[in-house]
Amino acid sequence: MLALVRRRGSSAAAADPRRGTFGGPLLAAIVVVAGLTLSGLVHAELRAAQRDNADRVMDQRNAMALAAVTTETERYRSLIEAIAAGIGTDDRFVWEDFDAATAPLASARLIGAATVTYIVPSTTDKIPQTQAYWRARGSDGLVLRPAGNYPEHYFAIFTRQLNTVGPLLNGIDAAASREASSALVDARRMSVPTVSDTYVLLRDRNLPRTRQQHSFVFVAPVWTREAYPEFRGWIVLGMRSQDFLSGVLATVSQGQLDGVLLADNQDGSRPVVARYDVAGDPDLTRSARFPVADREWTLVTSADSRRLPGARSSLPLAVLFGGAALALVLAGLVYLLATGRSRAWARVQEATAELRQAEAESRRQAGLLGAIMTSLGDGVGVVDENGSFLLHNPAAKALLGVDADVDDPAAWQHHYGLFRPDGRTPFPLDELPLIRALHGESSDGVEMIVRNPHRPEGILISVDGRPLDSSAGQRGAVAVFHDITELRRYENDLAVFAGVVAHDLKAPLTVIRGHCETAIEDLAAAPADPAVAGVRESLERIVRAVDRMAGLIDTLLAYATARDAPLRTRTVHLGALVAEVIQDRTAHLRPQDRPGVYVGPLPEVRADPAMLRHVLDNLVGNALKYVRPGSTARVDVTGETDGDRARIVVADRGIGIPDADKPDVFESFHRAHASAGYSGTGLGLAICKRIVERHGGEIGVADNPGGGTRFHFTLPLAAGSEEPISAEDAALERALAERAAMENVAPPDLAERPAGEPSAARLRAPVPDPPPTSTGPSG
Ligand code: ADP
Repeated sequence: MLALVRRRGSSAAAADPRRGTFGGPLLAAIVVVAGLTLSGLVHAELRAAQRDNADRVMDQRNAMALAAVTTETERYRSLIEAIAAGIGTDDRFVWEDFDAATAPLASARLIGAATVTYIVPSTTDKIPQTQAYWRARGSDGLVLRPAGNYPEHYFAIFTRQLNTVGPLLNGIDAAASREASSALVDARRMSVPTVSDTYVLLRDRNLPRTRQQHSFVFVAPVWTREAYPEFRGWIVLGMRSQDFLSGVLATVSQGQLDGVLLADNQDGSRPVVARYDVAGDPDLTRSARFPVADREWTLVTSADSRRLPGARSSLPLAVLFGGAALALVLAGLVYLLATGRSRAWARVQEATAELRQAEAESRRQAGLLGAIMTSLGDGVGVVDENGSFLLHNPAAKALLGVDADVDDPAAWQHHYGLFRPDGRTPFPLDELPLIRALHGESSDGVEMIVRNPHRPEGILISVDGRPLDSSAGQRGAVAVFHDITELRRYENDLAVFAGVVAHDLKAPLTVIRGHCETAIEDLAAAPADPAVAGVRESLERIVRAVDRMAGLIDTLLAYATARDAPLRTRTVHLGALVAEVIQDRTAHLRPQDRPGVYVGPLPEVRADPAMLRHVLDNLVGNALKYVRPGSTARVDVTGETDGDRARIVVADRGIGIPDADKPDVFESFHRAHASAGYSGTGLGLAICKRIVERHGGEIGVADNPGGGTRFHFTLPLAAGSEEPISAEDAALERALAERAAMENVAPPDLAERPAGEPSAARLRAPVPDPPPTSTGPSG
């Protein structure tokens, strides 16, 4: 159930990442849209708040400008009104009075004010009179200059210049200006201060057009203060509107406010009185009307909201771009997170696929190994470093006859029933190939008998042991073994055959030879006759053939002995043995046929003397045999020690061995010079090899420098103080060994053969009875 739930869980999880392929970009897009929308909203909100703020600031600035303009115009109006009122009280108004009355204006910082003038009316006919009158009152050199044919003229009598320089222009006629005369007339008519329409001041009309500017005049009528007031004239304040507006707004606008002053002219027009511009692109505008004397003027202010303090900042834009950037970053992160899962999933899939592939491959390998193990005829056993079995193939179980393995090496001998080849001695634990392999030592062809309740008959096995290859990933050992019972039986059959040949054929040969020799001796006494000579020759040929056959039988016997006869090692005096061999080989030769022999100092070795004699006899015999026809043989026997080994060299000056034959001359029945007429069996060197190897040595052949052949072989050096065996004893030993080889050969199951069979000797490697403790299959 748990597994089912897990499977469901994992299949649900498997669906998600596939959605994640599209989900990642979708989520990222949603985040981008949401982020941009939010940034836009906040931006709009901030902009709206900014606009409100700008409006508020603009309102404040406009109010300030309006207040300034209103205050100033009102101040000018009230100033000239006060002057006019003062003059009205003066019965005898002269220049000094005017000068005193208008003196405060000079210090009143009247922005834009050009002149303050006292103007009196006069009809054309009264001009000389008026002129004389005002000359007498302080207007020196006054010349009234009527402007034209007007019913009434308005002459400037006294003038004070404010913020301006130039001639005093007393005596000019204001009637020349329609706007000024209209304001004068209105002021007199209404008895209130008035303001004129805009025009170019008479004094400015001589200036270049670019320097002329809109101007206007404040006019205050001068009436006496009597019960019946009498009109005297006007106090006129000439204003340059551009200077006025610039001066007033320069302070209050702080360079942020544009201003346009619009006058309401009597004809209903609304000309621009003055314009004040500051830098920027105005987007906020306010318009307000305010009283100027008897009229209402309009002040239009405008400003660039970006230049108004606090009205605008880069915050909304920063919020917009910051928000957009944040949204993009966030979207990127979301995308990474969302697709990260599918990427991880893809990687997991990839790794899983690789894992599956590796698993399939290792399963295939394991299957292959299993199949190989199953089909192997040889038994294979693998143990870990503790001796616990990792593997035992079917052949191993079949060979050992035991199904269950036991992991304690100390119990192996008893469990599997392992004995030495004698069938009786339990196999020592330390010598078991697996144990030796665990100690890093390889072993080959270790023979042992397996006999247990499941294998009561016992089998002979040959075991190879190797340390486990390090590529296996763990320490251990492997043993490969196979049943050699049948092989040994076959070999024994051959040995038996050899024994039979030796035993049963040699006796008749001896008889034949004896009879031949007797007949030859008898014929020696017979008279010389060609027929007798022919018989004698035939008999001698028979003797030679019998000798050859006996030699062959001896060789075969030696061949069997070399392999099967037990080694009886002794300390052997090599020098004496070599001398004996050479003596045997050369004693019968005529002095002129004797070979050149050199025997160097030779060490004592540990060997089976009878077998070692075979080796030396074969090598010396070959050295004497393989010589060029007509030449005398030469043989040198030398020895040296190398560590605990002796190295013996038998060299000759004979025909040598072709290189192609050298690797094979130690094989049974291989002959290199068979066609050259040298007799032989091809077994001599094979016997030598067997014997040397059974002594743990090695044998080889090389060319003798200068011609001939050099054979060498190694043997263990004699270790202790043991007495070397005498030549007679060695001969006796040899005879015993050969006899043993003849008799002591039989396959393990030979005992089951019919009792009457002649070769039914006892088992060479008998299988002992089961040990008394082994009572059942499990034991
Ligand atoms: P054989 O009975 O033929 O001598 P061996 O086993 O003793 O058999 O030698 C094998 C072959 O090696 C010989 O047939 C011979 O061709 C070659 N051989 C052995 N010893 C010598 C030697 N000293 N000089 C030349 N050839 C040799």
